[in-house]
Amino acid sequence: MSRQTRPKFAATCRACAEECATDDPNEIVEFYRRHHSLTGHDVEWERADLPVLERVPLDADLQSVVEALDEHYENGVPLGVVTAAASRRGATVGETLEEVREVRLTGRFWEPSDDRISAY
Ligand SMILES: [Zn+2]
Repeated sequence: MSRQTRPKFAATCRACAEECATDDPNEIVEFYRRHHSLTGHDVEWERADLPVLERVPLDADLQSVVEALDEHYENGVPLGVVTAAASRRGATVGETLEEVREVRLTGRFWEPSDDRISAY
């Protein structure tokens, strides 16, 4: 990175303090997947500098989170952004990805492209 700006997104493993800081929210999802497959640990959001998250009610369930964000993304909401929004009510990255899987099984979410979801 050539500039001294702080990456917009960061998440940490509480168990071993490994951190991922990035400007691409889906990198946080990749970090979780790598770290979880190696260690079994879950990952928690530290910060998400993303104004659109203010539009999501703090107590929104996953369906409402995706609906609230959907209109701001042309090709589905990045999974990383969904996990960031859900973290505001205390969910870890792993918990949110599991919930996304469950809702997709009910057919209420679809995936316009890899790691991006939309609500029907
Ligand atoms: Zn860890």
